Parts: sequence; structure tokens; C-alpha cells
Amino acid sequence: MDACTDKQIISSEDRMSGYPVPILIQNEDTSVFELDEEALASVLLNTGIEDKHVCVLAVAGAFRKGKSFLLDFLLRYCCNRDSEDWLGDSSSPLRGFKWRQGSKRETTGILVWSKPFMVKKKSGEEIAVILMDTQGTFDTQSSMKDSTVVFALTMMVSSVLVYNLMNNIQEDDLMNLQTFTSYGIQAQEDCDTSHAFQRLQFLVRDWGFPYETPYGHKGGQGVLDEILQITPKQHPAHQDVRRDLRKCFRDINCYLMPHPGFKVIQHANFDGKLDDIDPEFVEHLRVLVPHLLAPENLVKKEFGGQPIKARDLYNFFKTFMEVFKD
Ligand code: GDP
Ligand code: MG
Repeated sequence: MDACTDKQIISSEDRMSGYPVPILIQNEDTSVFELDEEALASVLLNTGIEDKHVCVLAVAGAFRKGKSFLLDFLLRYCCNRDSEDWLGDSSSPLRGFKWRQGSKRETTGILVWSKPFMVKKKSGEEIAVILMDTQGTFDTQSSMKDSTVVFALTMMVSSVLVYNLMNNIQEDDLMNLQTFTSYGIQAQEDCDTSHAFQRLQFLVRDWGFPYETPYGHKGGQGVLDEILQITPKQHPAHQDVRRDLRKCFRDINCYLMPHPGFKVIQHANFDGKLDDIDPEFVEHLRVLVPHLLAPENLVKKEFGGQPIKARDLYNFFKTFMEVFKD
């Protein structure tokens, strides 16, 4: 697929409209990250959106681990939520945020879907759902430093942060999170920092031990409880990471996903159709995706303990960018 900066207009027959909008861009000459305020305004400051509470769902983590691929299923759910089967036709290619084969590195940045999805809760309240994709790398120390702005900003502005990991949750993954939360707390220094962020959803892809711990939420919760346990034998730094995470996030979950099958990772012309994806993976999408986005499960973005509106979110983006200016 092409570069992510291209506008991709999706045909209306897919009941999907919109395209990924880059909002945080790294300047090629200076390497400095810049917020595209105009692009952000085009998404958030529209009549019917700007005065609504928001749920910002972001997927973050290392590159080439299926983040955009997953987001396109979230997008499909948002577009087809009124249909009996939101996954739709099993031979349709998967479109939306661009995902691709291979291991070539891409630029870092943040993209949001151009069209927030208006979702009505049973109470009648309407929430604007914003899907956010991130691009960054954690593979070397220098790229990690580069990506910190991307991930710390993502954490600050999202209400559901899906932390996408491969195979298992490692100590390094927790350490990275702690680095990002420290920026977030700095940005919220005037507020009570307890539970500054809302939901953290660990998502383990290609979970390797299903016979020991089953796929899904329950297995995930077991893995999470074990890794977040504080024990006297742990290094004090490792104990701190765990305390910090519990303190920063109101809600921490984990989901263990199966491998999507070999066509997904090996076929050069795989286009994302369900027919080519392992049925077990698809069954787990049917559980995971509504768990994240069904109306009653939406988590509103809050700041200082109060839900914020799309208009406020726009302003927070600008405020939070100040934290990264030395
Ligand atoms: P991103 O860089 O994290 O956004 O990764 P992409 O969504 O672009 O996907 C990179 C590659 O991983 C693509 O070839 C996908 O087909 C493949 N992929 C998607 N989901 C999974 C998964 O759950 N496990 C594995 N092993 N590969 C996946
Ligand atoms: Mg991607």
C-alpha cells in the first residue's frame, strides 16, 4: 500500500468514508515534531462534533506489529455497527489506516481518522469516537527517543490506549510506558495526578502459550496480574514502575490474541480479506472490538477528573505540545 500521507477516499459501498489525517508530523530537516493545527481543527472543530464529549482510542507500540491492521477492524466496526454482522463480506479487502507487508521503516507520527463517529449511548448521550494511529519505533535507543514525543502525546490525549505488543508483556514494555506517563504527569501538574489517564489496554499479539493461559480477556487478566505484582525481591525501580502504572490509569486490562495465520504474514498480495485470516483470530476480533467500542463500553476522555469536549481536546493538544519544548 502507498504512503500514509495520501488521502484515501473509501467508496461509499463499503459504508466507510474518510481518510487518515496526519496531525503530528516530524519535520524532515530539523527532526522536530510539529502539530498540524489546521488538520486537527478539520477533525475536531466541526458543528455537531466540537461540543460533544469524546472517546479517543489510540493504538500504540513498536512498528510492524499489526497496529494499523487492527485499527482497520475497529474502523469497520464503527462504520458497520448497525449491521447484523459488522465484519461484513469475507472477501472484501481491509481498508482505512494503511498497513503493509515487509519490514521497511516508516516515518514517525500520529494520524487520526478524518471523521469522528457519533455514538449514542442508551442514556441518549452522544459521544464522538476518534480513532488514532501512531507510527514509531522502539528498536534502538535513538529511535526510542524520537518516538517518545509520539507515544507520550498519544497517552495524554487518548482515553483508551491500546498498547500493542508481540508475544508477551516484557519489563521493557512497562519501562517505556513509565517514560511516557512521566511526560503526561508533567503536563497535568496542576491537577491531582492520581488516575490522570483512563484506560490502558494491553494487547498481546501472537500469544504463544494458549495451552497454559487461554486467549482472550480472562487469560490476559491473569498475565497482567502476574506481571504487575509487586514483590519484595524486585528491584526498587521495577516496583516503582508498577506503582506508577496503577496510579496513572484508572483501569488496566489485557487481551491475548492468537496468531492471524500464515497468509497474513507471508503472502505478498494479502489484502486483508477475512477469508485469508485464521478463523480463531477473527473470532477474537468479534470479542475484542466490541469490548473496546460498543456504546456502553466507551470511555470518555477526561482531564482533571472531568469529561472534556472535542473543542477542549483541540486546545489540550496545543498545551501538551508545550511539554516537549525544551
Ligand atoms: P504497524 O506498523 O504496527 O501498524 O503494522 P501493520 O498494521 O502495518 O502490519 C504489519 C504487518 O503485520 C502486516 O503484514 C500485517 O499483515 C501483519 N500483521 C497484522 N496483524 C498481525 C498479528 O496479529 N500478528 C502478526 N504476526 N502479524 C500481523
Ligand atoms: Mg501502522
